[in-house]
Amino acid sequence: MEDTFKHRGLREQMVNLLRGKGIGDSRVLAAMSAVPRHLFMDTVLEYLAYEDRALPIACGQTISQPSMVAFQSELLDAEPEMKVLEIGTGSGYQTAVLCAMGLKVYTVERQKELYTATKKLLSRLNYNAKCFLGDGYKGLTEVDYGPYDRIIITCGAREVPRQLLRQLKTGGVMVIPVGDETQEMLRIVKMGEKENEFLQQRYGNCNFVPMLDKVNFGG
Ligand code: SAH
Repeated sequence: MEDTFKHRGLREQMVNLLRGKGIGDSRVLAAMSAVPRHLFMDTVLEYLAYEDRALPIACGQTISQPSMVAFQSELLDAEPEMKVLEIGTGSGYQTAVLCAMGLKVYTVERQKELYTATKKLLSRLNYNAKCFLGDGYKGLTEVDYGPYDRIIITCGAREVPRQLLRQLKTGGVMVIPVGDETQEMLRIVKMGEKENEFLQQRYGNCNFVPMLDKVNFGG
């Protein structure tokens, strides 16, 4: 669990690359130069940790590409202390970036194995996100910490989940890739309490693992 001088150097190069790709949000860039991405993957893949690519993690899932993490984090347009709900904890890398941006993070994962391992890793690295095992289509109903200022979905959803829109504050922002095989990145601003009162902006195509319903309790 080491973060060496070499890792930090590679991370600076990665952050420069993100700047070059148009990421300008200084909180996002600072968070990504602080979070040791190589600790969120299998050690055999560590040498690829600071390249701009998605990599495999347990349960056939992926850790998102750094430029995608930066892009979604920037689209959130969040202020420190805001409450953020993340759907698709996965490796916990995006979660850690949100924590490093000073946000209060609630994160939901449907795969038990990932939920358990990532919860442990995040606490070991002192990121105090609240982790939940559940179906992100429903958001967080049983333990209600909402409504949230921001919601970020890191798996491809068939449609914008109504229950998640309900858990977003009025004036709040949701960043979500919507579509089946490939998705379109949407930024949704909730304008009022009625179901159709939202603004939708489109941010191009992307590729995420699918958002599946029902919890996989494993074992
Ligand atoms: N942000 C993560 C992305 C992981 S991939 C990272 O960078 O590591 C997306 C994750 O969403 C997977 O772990 C997958 O199991 C999870 N997922 C898929 N459908 C879900 C659902 N309905 N509720 C919660 N998590 C879900």
